[in-house]
Amino acid sequence: MGVINVCLAFIRWLPVLFITLVIAWSYYAYVVQMCIITITNIPQKVIYLILYHPIFAMLVWCFWKTIFTDLAQVPKEFFLSATDLDQFERAENEEVQKEILNRLARNLPVQCRTNSGAIRYCDKCKCIKPDRAHHCSVCGKCILKMDHHCPWINNCVCFNTYKYFVLFLGYSLLYCIYVAATSLQYFIKFWVGSTHKGMGDFHVLFLFFATVMFAISITSLLSYHMFLTFVNRSTLESFRAPIFRSGPDKDGFNLGKMGNFMEIFGDDRRYWLLPIFTSNGDGVTFPTRMTPSPSSYHSMESTNPNAGNTTQPSEDQSGDKTELNNAQLPNFGDGVTYPVRTVDEDYDSLLGQRQRWMEEGDVDGSGDYVTTSFSPKANSVFINSEEE
Ligand SMILES: [Zn+2]
Ligand SMILES: [Zn+2]
Repeated sequence: MGVINVCLAFIRWLPVLFITLVIAWSYYAYVVQMCIITITNIPQKVIYLILYHPIFAMLVWCFWKTIFTDLAQVPKEFFLSATDLDQFERAENEEVQKEILNRLARNLPVQCRTNSGAIRYCDKCKCIKPDRAHHCSVCGKCILKMDHHCPWINNCVCFNTYKYFVLFLGYSLLYCIYVAATSLQYFIKFWVGSTHKGMGDFHVLFLFFATVMFAISITSLLSYHMFLTFVNRSTLESFRAPIFRSGPDKDGFNLGKMGNFMEIFGDDRRYWLLPIFTSNGDGVTFPTRMTPSPSSYHSMESTNPNAGNTTQPSEDQSGDKTELNNAQLPNFGDGVTYPVRTVDEDYDSLLGQRQRWMEEGDVDGSGDYVTTSFSPKANSVFINSEEE
């Protein structure tokens, strides 16, 4: 078993190694082959290099943070004690188990439910799942506000890595556009010119090709994640709406565009473009359309689902006050429920492996599949998300 685990761990690092090598090669091709060797005009050489390095540094910084950030842990309050677990596992039927979970969740800020209306429970971690948390079978634990498990960074994109991930995509796109734009004239020169075609020329030719291809891939992926950011949905939630006590509501966490953006990027605009953790909240409790107060960040106690909904909308959502006011009626949801969405075919088969995504309470085994993949070769968008 040990050998298999080591092999698996090695295989999981291969995509990260691949991206790292591509970034390192692009640095060599741009700085050495293009700027230092190919460009003869000194001011142009200097300007290209001065503009290049900050973008490169931000790209590497964000890449580093998405890979090596330790994922936020599910608080210990959500784990069943030995006595409760024993009682839970000895329960004679599911109804009794549901009652036990209901009792245990009474003091926990959980608003989401399974399809059958039960408290969401992870039988691998033996914990009650916080809202928006899901179990990642690659990481082997429940992940707070799980978006997806990304093989290209060998880490989960989740509550405390989502900002880094979106910034990584943003700086990658900027990097590709900058390199492609500045290498275009040399690409054309080498392509049409019949002069020498040494290895250096091929580096520049391939640099242009590679950055254009990556730019196309990243544009679609970044657009998708910007959309998700502004509607406050994780990738998993875009495939299957979170279920509240009133039923599924894909816009349950939607606080208006600016509120949604600030939930991830923070209130201080000076940090928006830096891969420094500034997301609002604790990853366990999230304001919803029904309880939009920012005070429901940070404090588990204040988001007791049984508490009254007398909170005020946050100041940054002036444009959405009507929506919020309507939603503040003392009920859950706006009366509109959304059908559970199944995965579109075009999201299928983008990455080789398909993973089951299923909540407890699913009646049959036809849970959604959530698998997308980012292929640097094809223009496919990725995300390999897995959870149960
Ligand atoms: Zn789990
Ligand atoms: Zn994971």
